[in-house]
Amino acid sequence: MLNEILAANKKFVSENKFEPLSHHPEKSFAVVTCMDTRLVDFLEPALGIGRGEVKMIKNAGNTVIDDHSDIIKSLAAATCLLGCKEVMVIGHTHCGMAGTTDEKVRNAMIAAGISAEDLEGIDLKSWIGGFDDEEENIQETVQKIRNSKFIPKNVPIHALIMDIDTGALMHLKTI
Ligand SMILES: [Zn+2]
Repeated sequence: MLNEILAANKKFVSENKFEPLSHHPEKSFAVVTCMDTRLVDFLEPALGIGRGEVKMIKNAGNTVIDDHSDIIKSLAAATCLLGCKEVMVIGHTHCGMAGTTDEKVRNAMIAAGISAEDLEGIDLKSWIGGFDDEEENIQETVQKIRNSKFIPKNVPIHALIMDIDTGALMHLKTI
C-alpha cells in the first residue's frame, strides 16, 4: 500500500501547482467529525467547503472523553490561536462506534494481540469513545465542548448529523 501511495503522490505533485495558503481558515470555523471512511471526500463537498477554509478535527465517533481529550486541545488551538469563531460537531448515521460494548472492544483488542492484563480494570467502551446512540453522542460532545474551561464561551457550538448515504445534513436542537 505504501508504494502505491508514494507513486500516486509523485504523480500528484508533478501534475499540480499550488499557491501558498494561510493556516487561518477562510471560513473561520472548525468541524469536529468522525474518522469514518465514507466521510472522506464526501463531508467537504456536502458542506460546500474546500482546502484552506476550515479546521477539520476527526476521531472515532466524534467523541470527547474529557477536557484532556485531543479534540478539546485541537479546538483550543483552533479557537484561541488560529482564528476559528464557530464550531460544528457533525456526527453521522450508522456510525461504527455506535453500539460498542466493553466486551466487544476487549475481545477485539485481545484478538489483535493486545495484552489482556493491560486492559484490566479499564471501561473500554468509554476509553475508546463508544456510545449507544449517534444523536445523543453528538449532544454530549457539544455539551462537553461548551462546558470545557479551555474553549472561549463566545464560540457557538452547533450540533449536526449527516445522513451517511445521502450527505443530507440535519441541524439538531441542542439540549
Ligand atoms: Zn462514525
